Amino acid sequence: MAADSGAARYRIAPSPTGSIHVGTARTALYNWLLARQSGGTFVLRVEDTARDRNRPEFEQAIYAGLAWLGLDWDEGPDVGGEYGPYRQSERLKIHRRHLQRLIDRGHVYRCFCSREQLAEERKAAQRAKTPPRYSGRCRKLSETEVRSRLDAGEPASYRFKVAAGNVEFDDLVLGILREDSGLWGDFIVARSDGSPVYNFAVVADDHDMAITHVLRGADHISNTFKQVVMYEALSWELPRFGHIPLTLNAKRQKLSKRDGSVSIQEYRDLGYLPEAVNNFIALLGWNPGDEREFFSLQELVGEFSADRINRANAIFDQERLDWFSGNYVRGLPLSELSRRAWEYLEDHGFFLPPNGTSDSGLDIEPVGRPSRDYFESALALEQERIRRLSDLPGVISFFFREKVDPDPKFLVARRQSPEASADALAKVADWTDQNDLTDQSSTERFLRGLADELGWKAGVLFMPIRMAITGSRATPPLFATMAVLG
Ligand code: GLU
Repeated sequence: MAADSGAARYRIAPSPTGSIHVGTARTALYNWLLARQSGGTFVLRVEDTARDRNRPEFEQAIYAGLAWLGLDWDEGPDVGGEYGPYRQSERLKIHRRHLQRLIDRGHVYRCFCSREQLAEERKAAQRAKTPPRYSGRCRKLSETEVRSRLDAGEPASYRFKVAAGNVEFDDLVLGILREDSGLWGDFIVARSDGSPVYNFAVVADDHDMAITHVLRGADHISNTFKQVVMYEALSWELPRFGHIPLTLNAKRQKLSKRDGSVSIQEYRDLGYLPEAVNNFIALLGWNPGDEREFFSLQELVGEFSADRINRANAIFDQERLDWFSGNYVRGLPLSELSRRAWEYLEDHGFFLPPNGTSDSGLDIEPVGRPSRDYFESALALEQERIRRLSDLPGVISFFFREKVDPDPKFLVARRQSPEASADALAKVADWTDQNDLTDQSSTERFLRGLADELGWKAGVLFMPIRMAITGSRATPPLFATMAVLG
């Protein structure tokens, strides 16, 4: 099903209580795709109402994470828009107005129950093995009693009067969902100071921002039912709701950091390309209906559809992300890979600054700054061998060091004496001093000839040479490496 055309308005509403994780990035991507596909609008609303847990740097991390993935937003706290403000904390006055509307329509009453009383009710329900739900004690208070307790300064939250019955909505992904509201009990919509709880603020904001499609994680389904009854109480038109199944680890548990649920910022630091991350998370919960696996963002805009979002939970597979990443690294034109790799290495302190020391984010000694051309020719040899930009320092730095640190054990050719090996290396050094190494076939001819002369297998001779010039046992092909090193 394609998104409705015209004035479709999608949104992502992250809370700045941490950096963006895979789940949020996926929700953002799906909403962005549907918005772009329908020629609609993609709104970024920052839900910063959990004041104790919000931090301004997390709001910045949301911007940076989305921007890195290439998911641009049309309206948001930083870019403005007709429906602002886009920071939930700045909408308190509007929320209070809507709360008043609920009160005026008789859907809300004041509740004086203390935390202790509510905890006691919950315990009693547990003992009786009945679902925990508010008893409705304060619903029965007389108007005079409410007035006098409020006048006496007793704090009182705002509770929504739930009518028993079936609540249902047609989910874009899961079809008709239904729940018996008789199981809920009256729920709180605002605290005693009139500030809304999440569930009410979201309804108010989605309505005021004319959001037409609310696509979010399946962990919100139980909230959605309650939101539906609030929309109805306010006589507001429902948006289309859609719930994206969760992403779990291989043991089908909630994804944790150990399983690779790192923030988008960390993926960037780990040297993944954003196109690989997008491709990976697009398929983490959606399928094109055939065997294709590679999709650019533009292709996804064309192909994505809500009715192909999987109904089953997705399993996060780090190996698959690495595999995508390697494919994208290999698929980039060398000049583009070079630009990105340079920037990545620069950002992570790989190159020595002109004045000496560097605070490297990588566990490798920084190297002197090569010329861009030289850098690119070294990179060309490693492009096939890496999966992430962070693999580069380990395999490329020998190209840029004055001296390498060979392991003496491998400077001795297999089953040969140290003297014979040193002799052979000296011959190679002599030859390389006098010859142009860019002619790889001539290097190859010389080295194979030397191996024949010594009566050694070619590979036996190549290992000490490789070790002597790179300090490593595994490198790109030897003649090509020598050609670049010169
Ligand atoms: N702030 C909520 C969250 O981050 C938003 C959920 C929603 O999309 O309504 O989970």
